[in-house]
Amino acid sequence: MSWTDTTLTTWGRSRFARAATIAPSDEAGLRAAVLDSHARGVITYGGGRCYGDAALDDGGQTILTSALNRIESFDADTGEVVCEAGVDFAALLDRVLPEGFCFPVSAATASVTVGGAFANDIHSKNHHRVGSFGDHTSWIDIMLASGELVRASRDENADIFHASLGGTGLTGTIMRVGFRLMRVPSRSADAEFRPLADVDAMIDTIEASRDTHDFLFGWVDAMATGKDLGRGILELGNLAASDEGQVPLPATKHIRVQPPSFLLHPALLRRFTDRRYRKMPPRGRTARVHLYPYLFPLDSIVGFNRVYGRRGFYSIHTGFPRATQRAGIVAVMEALTAARAGSFAAVMKPMRGPGAGLLSFPMEGMAYAIDLPRRKGVEALHKEIERITLDHGGRLYIAKDALMTAETFATMFPRLDEFREVLARIDPEGRFQSDMGRRLRLHP
Ligand SMILES: Cc1cc2nc3c(=O)[nH]c(=O)nc-3n(C[C@H](O)[C@H](O)[C@H](O)COP(=O)(O)OP(=O)(O)OC[C@H]3O[C@@H](n4cnc5c(N)ncnc54)[C@H](O)[C@@H]3O)c2cc1C
Repeated sequence: MSWTDTTLTTWGRSRFARAATIAPSDEAGLRAAVLDSHARGVITYGGGRCYGDAALDDGGQTILTSALNRIESFDADTGEVVCEAGVDFAALLDRVLPEGFCFPVSAATASVTVGGAFANDIHSKNHHRVGSFGDHTSWIDIMLASGELVRASRDENADIFHASLGGTGLTGTIMRVGFRLMRVPSRSADAEFRPLADVDAMIDTIEASRDTHDFLFGWVDAMATGKDLGRGILELGNLAASDEGQVPLPATKHIRVQPPSFLLHPALLRRFTDRRYRKMPPRGRTARVHLYPYLFPLDSIVGFNRVYGRRGFYSIHTGFPRATQRAGIVAVMEALTAARAGSFAAVMKPMRGPGAGLLSFPMEGMAYAIDLPRRKGVEALHKEIERITLDHGGRLYIAKDALMTAETFATMFPRLDEFREVLARIDPEGRFQSDMGRRLRLHP
């Protein structure tokens, strides 16, 4: 078999792997690749949009899904679609939007693949209404360590289905996914952008809008402190009845150079976030926007992951149950302030309830996530936020993680032992391996 030595990284650019890669284009090629894996194991790499080491296997082998990229069928009556796992959301939207359909759940970038979406059971800014990706998935075809391609659903090989949903590629390589799209009345969303003065206003307004708005997404000014702590701009949205009055698509910007680290000084970041907050009129504004920039706002800035410089960055993506969400999020914000941590972006999103995967992230409550440049002190700050999250009964999202410890993970994800039991049965020799899997001791 022809494997190619490649250096791989992911979105955060804080972790790298030197791995032998291969991009099979059919079932036979995929089987041969899985069976040709050696002692260090193999992992699957989709769009590379996770932030840490979930898709990396340094010194091992990596199956790229870039050539498994066919939309195999689409039923415009029922919305059922069957895609190979390497199809990304951009290609899917191009195919189905003209026929009046969209996916119910996506990430904030269209470069995520369908396989990657299932393997992290992703959630969107409409989680409080529609749940996560697995809630809309009918079945998967997955290549196991034995070389057997099996169909897994809630009724058939249900343990494999639930372990693979959020299982970060450790149960096998998903080859195709069958899932349901939603019918949309237009190609637009009606969005309202409302400035909110502090964390209480942000949380209260999100809570009051859960039943009235399909989409809720708070940009939080991560540099605001004191009485302004947690201020930000809440985006409240619904699918639009028509495209009439749609604003023009935003121009694409490119970040080609990595800024020197002095530009990430907290004082400069504070100036940037303050200007962003103040630019919004006090009464807010509304706009009818195309679904593409609405669902994938970060894609209008190509190379956004370079803004934190050469050393890359971490994301800390917390989730808190409803009973402790306010206290937990405020404690995280205060820890960030005390550490004088600087960031362009922190976001808040409501969540509806648990995902069906054994390692799914969502719970009923609120997610709060922040990006932080990889610089001195950030690992210690991460430890502190891990502790706060644990103390408030919350958890961290492994799609974004590069730093959590195995002990913390085991406490936050109480179904880990069930996951390990499935791995022990379907991959007793541990053929599927990743740097994250070793770090978090996900194997039995
Ligand atoms: C700008 C940006 C915005 C984001 N917004 C959100 C968001 O709103 N909500 C959210 O939930 N997440 C979000 N994410 C995270 C992203 O959705 C997840 O990390 C997703 O899993 C990435 O998919 P990918 O195709 O890039 O997979 P990769 O990053 O390549 O891999 C991610 C994991 O999936 C596994 N995997 C990939 N393909 C397969 C396959 N075919 N079979 C088995 N395992 C596979 C990999 O082994 C790895 O463990 C965002 C990421 C970025 C960069």
